[in-house]
Amino acid sequence: MAELPEYKNLIGGEYRAAASGKCLDSINPSTGEVWARIPASDRTDVEAAVKAASDAFPAWSALPAAGRAHYLRKVGDIFRQHSEELTRLELLGIGCQARKSNVPSPAGGLAFLWDRAAGLTLDAVTGRSVPLDANTLGITRREPYGVVAAIVPYNSPQGMASSKASLAIAAGNTVVLKPPEQASPAILRFGELLAEVLPPGVVNMVSGRGADVGDPLVRHPDVRKITMTGAPDTARAIQRAAADNLTSCIFELGGKSPNIVFADADLDKAAYGVTTQAIYTTNAGQACVGGSRILIQRSILAEMLKRMKAIAEQIKLGDPFDPETTMGPLISQAQFDKVTGYIEIGKREAELVFGGRYGPELVPSRPGGFWVEPTLFIAKDNTPRICQEEIFGPVAAVIPFDTEEEAIAIANDSRFGLAAGLWTTNLARVNRFIRDIRSGNVWVNTYLQTRYELPFGGIKDSGYGHDDIMEFTVEKTAVIST
Ligand code: NAD
Repeated sequence: MAELPEYKNLIGGEYRAAASGKCLDSINPSTGEVWARIPASDRTDVEAAVKAASDAFPAWSALPAAGRAHYLRKVGDIFRQHSEELTRLELLGIGCQARKSNVPSPAGGLAFLWDRAAGLTLDAVTGRSVPLDANTLGITRREPYGVVAAIVPYNSPQGMASSKASLAIAAGNTVVLKPPEQASPAILRFGELLAEVLPPGVVNMVSGRGADVGDPLVRHPDVRKITMTGAPDTARAIQRAAADNLTSCIFELGGKSPNIVFADADLDKAAYGVTTQAIYTTNAGQACVGGSRILIQRSILAEMLKRMKAIAEQIKLGDPFDPETTMGPLISQAQFDKVTGYIEIGKREAELVFGGRYGPELVPSRPGGFWVEPTLFIAKDNTPRICQEEIFGPVAAVIPFDTEEEAIAIANDSRFGLAAGLWTTNLARVNRFIRDIRSGNVWVNTYLQTRYELPFGGIKDSGYGHDDIMEFTVEKTAVIST
């Protein structure tokens, strides 16, 4: 067997193995085979990375904004110059389809993130000036926190790593980044390339199992800000661990987002939007914003189900590198077990509309992959577990409704509050909906469309805060009297 590629941590500008020498296997989700090895780091590596970040902080934060912007653009060039390789590693790692996915191609999307951060460095981080009286002036300065811990989920590894690290260092912080253990190679290879363009210690990366690396990192007294994207229970553990040092957190978490279709909607657009864009073909439903509760006005229920089924039948499950593929596998055996468990629960508590099958026979050429077909249930109301809990796979539930009030009540009956979609041509309803829905993001007659300039975050169990450059700064006040 050919030797497996081994990816390493980035600590103080050095690309190195875990101090213990231990490794974890990376599994290709479309074959089930081990394709790479990553460091199985622990507290020792975290200590070294936080020290490197602390050591780098004074010089990095003292650089003029234009100096930091210069480096950030050079990082953007990594994605322009190594686009093909980094895209390939992302596809091998998470199995998202190459043809159309929510993961921006590294060349286009991710270079843009670093370019944008370079621009923000120059323009956005400014203070205020407030005259108190003729002899006294109040001013504020936006200052970096120091070391930022950036914790990344598996479903968009390079996008999340870039979004967090670019804004944190643009604001003058230094970073210790924890890649997701299921899909680290793309980020770690990016780290190797980063070492060539950034001063040592400005961005560090430590890979390993969640709690082995994440827990000592978020407990570390020299970490002053945490930005984490992942599941609510992980965020709760992090918040508890961060409490001793009162470390400030940003949490971008899961969802159970409602996508509401009214009878007056453009049904062609709505059927496509709620079926593909919102759930199945976005990372096989492993998307925090997945519109997994589809609320349909009863008068168009039969017509919508017919259209959605026809659209779902066109989805082609398979090898992520095949240009014909429109939906890839789930990330892991654990995620496969969780999602298929929910399918079995759904069969008991609701009615299956389409899908419901899973396993090797779905893609016989790749029997080791974690395959689940697009699955839709119809529920009587919003109470079943498949309507309340985040499944994080290609499984959605339709909930019929009659009136607008009922739709809003069902939509808001959730412990999550990440996103919501509305399909209607009634502008007054659009205005009411935007006001009344309890979520961080609202899409009207579209879904998932966004740009990095728009804030993205949630409420309730979907977290709080945004990965925004200002959130990586502390505002200091000074009052100067003559
Ligand atoms: P996860 O919570 O299992 O893991 C996220 C990260 O936290 C990983 O890097 C993991 O290693 C780390 N971690 C685990 N235990 C930790 C601990 N005790 N201390 C510190 N770090 C720890 O999430 P996941 O399975 O990788 O991702 C799926 C979840 O992420 C879903 O709930 C999804 O909705 C959410 N998500 C949210 C957004 C958003 O922007 N709101 C985007 C993508 C994913």
